[in-house]
Amino acid sequence: MKVRSISILGSTGSIGDSTLDLIRRNRSEWRVVALTAQNRVVELARLAREFAAEVAVIGDESLLSQLREELRGTNIAATAGQQALIEAAAYSADITVAAIVGCAGLAPTMAAIERGGTVALANKEALVSAGEVMTAAVLRHGATLLPVDSEHNAIFQCMAGSDPTDIRWITLTASGGPFRDWSAERIVRATPTEAVKHPNWAMGAKISVDSATMFNKGLELIEAHHLFPVGLQKLRIIVHPQSVVHSMVEYRDGSTLAQLGPSDMRVPIASALAWPARMDTPCEPLDLAAIGELTFRAPDEVRFPATRICREAALLGGGIPAVLNAANEVAVAAFLAGQIGFTRIAAHVENVLSAYAPPPPASLDDVLAIDREARLRAMSLMELA
Ligand code: NAD
Ligand code: MG
Repeated sequence: MKVRSISILGSTGSIGDSTLDLIRRNRSEWRVVALTAQNRVVELARLAREFAAEVAVIGDESLLSQLREELRGTNIAATAGQQALIEAAAYSADITVAAIVGCAGLAPTMAAIERGGTVALANKEALVSAGEVMTAAVLRHGATLLPVDSEHNAIFQCMAGSDPTDIRWITLTASGGPFRDWSAERIVRATPTEAVKHPNWAMGAKISVDSATMFNKGLELIEAHHLFPVGLQKLRIIVHPQSVVHSMVEYRDGSTLAQLGPSDMRVPIASALAWPARMDTPCEPLDLAAIGELTFRAPDEVRFPATRICREAALLGGGIPAVLNAANEVAVAAFLAGQIGFTRIAAHVENVLSAYAPPPPASLDDVLAIDREARLRAMSLMELA
């Protein structure tokens, strides 16, 4: 059996943890090149030792001496800072898992793409912000982008080998988040603790809040638009509270293909790691008789305006989705810090979008400049509010 090499950007997060769980179970099949984290230095060092990584990178430079200390006695290289993250992402590996949260993952993900490697993409904000710049880089450098986001992984599997012009619809399923059955009055008072408690999935704080606002599904609509270029008018969203059907593709002959599975990110991650083959996961087989019912309903864009805001931003395209993403990141951080109420997140994103409409970015630097400017504007608009 051929040993494959892997780097994990964002190894201490929820996706990083699920990925390493799969590697741990198939230890002899993998060689770990680089592991990165932003500030959980003890955890990063522990993982680097356990998986005998070649390099451990900590984003926060002030933690470099502690990382070196934690790795003393090993021959694991320790580096730190944004440039080190980018360098680590560019190291040769059979697969690079892009699992940093937010636009902070964009430059490292682009470095992995520019090396022409295979990138398992969880970091949706990077693709939302960089859109055409990233997909053009994938083509130019002959990279392979494998979607890890469960919906996109489902669509990727349902589309295998088919002609995109045969597709009538791509339907993204959404759990609807923890507030899907709450009244508008109750949603206004939702707290960070309530927002991060997702009914079906265990995830990082930012994506959990995005699931509660439905910005997650809106960002995923933009993500799907770039990964599967069938046209925005063929992409739609349906609420499916059980999170068993992870997405669907309907063809022009009336056939709909769906991918089903447990609500466990190890399934789509394994699909990307083993692609085009398959690998074992420890997940329980799907017991549809025990689940009993699969239900579907239309999204409510009055209580949850985020999917409308994202669709409008995707239609405008260019630099607008990067503004949307940056404004959402700033608003989610403010909500988690107790500075703004839950429903202010969407209102705030709309305010920033109406205040800043940059020209389309032509390069990674352009996207990063738009992201920086949008954050500044989002922060000053929030102070005014
Ligand atoms: P998380 O918050 O649990 O982990 C984020 C990781 O990124 C950590 O390792 C952290 O150290 C690192 N990181 C954070 N800020 C950074 C920065 N400024 N610079 C460098 N590294 C930084 O997040 P997560 O839930 O694992 O999500 C990661 C990505 O995967 C997100 O884009 C999310 O939308 C996407 N995703 C997650 C899930 C899920 O189930 N968790 C599902 C689908 C997609
Ligand atoms: Mg998803």
